[in-house]
Amino acid sequence: METNLLEIKNLSVEYKSKHGLLGSLQTIHAVNNLTLNIKKGEILAIAGESGCGKSTLAKTVMLLEQAKSGEITFNKKNILQMNKIELKDFRKKVQMIFQNPYSSLDPKMKIIDTLKEPLKINFNLSEHEIDTIILKTIEKVGLDKECLNLYPHEFSGGQRQRIAIARALVLNPEFIVADEPVSALDVSIQAQIINLLKELKEQYNLTFMFISHDLSVIKYLADRVAVMYLGEIVELSKTDEIFFSPAHPYTKALLGAIPQINQIGEEKILLKGDLPSPADLPTGCKFHTRCPYCMPVCRENIPEAVLINENHFVKCFLYNKNL
Ligand code: SF4
Repeated sequence: METNLLEIKNLSVEYKSKHGLLGSLQTIHAVNNLTLNIKKGEILAIAGESGCGKSTLAKTVMLLEQAKSGEITFNKKNILQMNKIELKDFRKKVQMIFQNPYSSLDPKMKIIDTLKEPLKINFNLSEHEIDTIILKTIEKVGLDKECLNLYPHEFSGGQRQRIAIARALVLNPEFIVADEPVSALDVSIQAQIINLLKELKEQYNLTFMFISHDLSVIKYLADRVAVMYLGEIVELSKTDEIFFSPAHPYTKALLGAIPQINQIGEEKILLKGDLPSPADLPTGCKFHTRCPYCMPVCRENIPEAVLINENHFVKCFLYNKNL
């Protein structure tokens, strides 16, 4: 039976942001009552436009943002209520790969020291044991041991992202949150890093939360896809089902905007207008201001998640048979 490694239940995250010429504070509703499970050994992709709350969700799972309400459990333990010892263990098992390999590595540290640091903090290992782990890891990410005595500025963007991946792997994690890990790289390098992540997932039996706005990358890499809009998951299913039988009008609009993914014969939905501000969320279905199928019920009521096929959930009144 498939086990959930991460379970997110009714999670809401808000933060204050300065607004306008006078700098008055406004509340940003970045994640709204979000529920989502990630199964052990899968790559679950979070798709959606910039500003939909994907990165805030990732940072909250990493405990870099504070949840306003809800629960996040990892291996059945609520990470929002962990004691110091449990938190230390959690931080070993869960690692993050950031979007920008230029800013995520300390420019003043040699690569060997960047890789040694987490091992020294988290384990009581001899120098020989540390060196063995580092050499094995650097080889796994496709770099030579000669790189260990160099500084980050001596590498290309793709090589720096390999180093950032090695830093995540040295602690032998179970779960990796990858936040747009290839979007800052040249297109020619992106495929190499994506293939590397796929190989490492198999070799290390890793589970991934993979955040991306790039649906081509998601289609190639993910086992399941959760489509996010204004802090909510509006559709969730296996990758093939999302790409070949999308149900939510927002998912159809995202897919329709990409010529190489757009399906022949599939109805085309064009996204109207910009993403509304998360400081001023629409009432009812949050997509109603841009949805060509909007009905009166959509403006006042929030749709529940409905199961429309095996493990395929959608939040849209078009699929609510009781209407
Ligand atoms: Fe469109 Fe209504 Fe469905 Fe929202 S609930 S996506 S507004 S049809």
